[in-house]
Amino acid sequence: MALIVQKYGGTSVGSAERIHKVADRVIHARQQGHDVVVVVSAMSGETNRLVSLAKEVADPPKAREFDVLLSTGEQVTIGLLAMALESKGCAARSYTGAQVHILTDSTHNKARILEIDNKHMRADLDAGRVVVVAGFQGIDAEGNITTLGRGGSDTTAVALAAALKADECQIYTDVDGVYTTDPRVVPKARRLDKVTFEEMLELASLGAKVLQIRSVEFASKYNVPLRVLSSFDDTYTGTGTLIAAEEESDMEQALISGIAFNRDEAKLTLLGVPDQPGIARDILGAIAAANIEVDMIIQNIGTDGTTTDFTFTVHRNDYAKTLEILQVVKEKLKAREINGDDKIVKVSLVGVGMRSHAGIASTMFRALADEGINIKMISTSEIKISVVVDEKYLELAVRALHTVFDLDQAA
Ligand code: ASP
Ligand code: MG
Repeated sequence: MALIVQKYGGTSVGSAERIHKVADRVIHARQQGHDVVVVVSAMSGETNRLVSLAKEVADPPKAREFDVLLSTGEQVTIGLLAMALESKGCAARSYTGAQVHILTDSTHNKARILEIDNKHMRADLDAGRVVVVAGFQGIDAEGNITTLGRGGSDTTAVALAAALKADECQIYTDVDGVYTTDPRVVPKARRLDKVTFEEMLELASLGAKVLQIRSVEFASKYNVPLRVLSSFDDTYTGTGTLIAAEEESDMEQALISGIAFNRDEAKLTLLGVPDQPGIARDILGAIAAANIEVDMIIQNIGTDGTTTDFTFTVHRNDYAKTLEILQVVKEKLKAREINGDDKIVKVSLVGVGMRSHAGIASTMFRALADEGINIKMISTSEIKISVVVDEKYLELAVRALHTVFDLDQAA
């Protein structure tokens, strides 16, 4: 018997029929002998509806009142689910975030959880009841309703699991796990049985749709095993993807876990910058001052020894703005030229196996060369190698790497 926190997202509770299905699944877990705490999102589309409604009344809406409004979506779902459970003979009680004392800071619309009081939940569990908690919401020290940012129910679930020292936090969604890469790009992509927290964070561009990244950071910090599962699997047999800490005993750890990619990149180069202290500060300082986030950075030694070339990438939406800023920096630093390209993508190989295996980068570069794909930038971290390539090569690059690193599904 275990204590399990189950979280159901919007599509999983999108209709009365879906809510009955969720109730059946919760009851199934109870019948297996588990204690269950359920966290739910608003019914699919509801939060978006509330957002547009608010904007019709006031744009921008007052942050405090926006939270009062947005938090109602989840309150509908907890009431409905607790009713469904009771109607099936399963004792249950619903609670808002405030009622279970999910204390947050006062940053409306993106509040952080500070503390959870688990006494009430414990008492219900001890009395044999299922506890149903509204995701995405909390209360600050002054008693104001707060919300945790879009997708925040995942974080509520992980936080409750940490506070209750649950055995597992199960995230039910409309896909059956985390994949080696996007199946729309590589039809042979495979569901991963297991990934580490670190890998999941690096695979964010794939996983973001499945999990709010903050919830993974939280799970990693408090070591809460997370499992992504489909709520549409009526056989209850799927095992989904387990996201957990890396165990030393895990001998069968795959070398590479997945391939992430990002289509929203642009790269800029300042050529012929005088090679002197402070240039990186001058260039990136100006970009940062405009609140533009820089991803990869490369500085080359210029061929003549007195100047250097400085290249970096930004989000494609920030490309035009960054070009403008660089014009000013170019005059100031007396650089020679600006080069830009917003038709690029970033492709990243992710795997903890990289730490203990040599030759992964060379295999990657060979695979890309064999396809005639030119690499424009390279950056590495302990468990990731990223390359920037022309956007027209994205699919080809991802497929080639997926095959070379043995990630393809068995035929
Ligand atoms: N209902 C909220 C949203 O749509 C929170 C969540 O679903 O996790 O963002
Ligand atoms: Mg979600």
